[in-house]
Amino acid sequence: MTEPVRDVAIVGGGPAGLTAGLYLCRARIDAVLLEQQMPGGQAVYSPLIENYPGFPQGIPGPDLADLMKEQVEKFGLEIMSFSPVNRLVQDGPAKTLVLDKGEVRTSALIVATGRSPRKMGIPGEDEFTGRGISYCATCDAPLFKEKAVMVIGGGDAAVEEALHLTRFASKVILVHRRDELRASSYLQERILSDPKVEFMWNSEIREIKGEQTVQSASVFNNVTSETTEVPVSCVFFYVGNTPNTGFLTEVVELDEAGYVKTDERLESSVPGIFAAGDARANLFKQVLIAAAEGATAALAAQRYLESTGAIKAYQGGDRW
Ligand code: NAP
Repeated sequence: MTEPVRDVAIVGGGPAGLTAGLYLCRARIDAVLLEQQMPGGQAVYSPLIENYPGFPQGIPGPDLADLMKEQVEKFGLEIMSFSPVNRLVQDGPAKTLVLDKGEVRTSALIVATGRSPRKMGIPGEDEFTGRGISYCATCDAPLFKEKAVMVIGGGDAAVEEALHLTRFASKVILVHRRDELRASSYLQERILSDPKVEFMWNSEIREIKGEQTVQSASVFNNVTSETTEVPVSCVFFYVGNTPNTGFLTEVVELDEAGYVKTDERLESSVPGIFAAGDARANLFKQVLIAAAEGATAALAAQRYLESTGAIKAYQGGDRW
């Protein structure tokens, strides 16, 4: 059997993965972080993070992600861009991440792959993606200056992004399937008093129509059973997320929604495989909590390596 080549592999470069990398590098443990796109995770898409301590004015998600990346680079974390992980194979204590090209073998693994926005699967959604369907107001809001736009969902993400959109759009129509928002009260107070936001309560989007780009959305009222055709230039979806854990299914125990189940040390059903942040079956999805879980997973991974004797001796050199 081939020896594991890495002490720890971290999959995912959001706040959880980057913090895990920071702790491991500072502890002089051999670690590699595999990231599919640019580091930062979903936080990159947040226009302003107001609940991360140390930033009293709030900080835009992309800025926080840049600072986290700068910090791990300072301590020499190796970041590897990769195609999606297709599969995880466990052979004895070693874990192998099978990529499109090649593989990474490791003694311990930290899953920090986060979640992706959920699609609704309604007519027009795929057809107009990028042409008036968006899952990221932070990215696309400036394209809809002085236009009417629609936001679907009633959670924190929908409300935060709708508030961001009011800075650009002529009107923001928030469509929610109930008559009460799920978002936190602070956000609710702000959106309910915003003159640029109109609400369609007890309402469900059924279809998106247009020619080259989106022109209108059909919205069904589930109390009156009426359908209204609403002219809009873009529909932003915030109806929840699905965890990026498909590559784990044959090896690690997941909950019914696909999130990784762990114990209090954030260790999964497989010894040496840990999960941190939004991909974990935790109670709250928050940037700060993801970062804290990254730290916990790194410390637990270090203990695991020490207890199994798998840790490589520090060889010195400039990386640290
Ligand atoms: P979420 O809290 O799960 O909210 C999803 C929203 O979409 C809900 O209002 C839900 O309606 C609606 N929805 C779900 N499926 C739907 C469907 N098929 N048709 C129509 N509407 C549907 O998701 P999220 O807003 O993305 O937030 C996810 C997590 O991240 C939460 O824990 C949240 O607190 C956290 N988060 C925090 C912040 C922050 O603290 N600043 C910012 C963003 C996200 P119902 O309400 O009827 O279920």
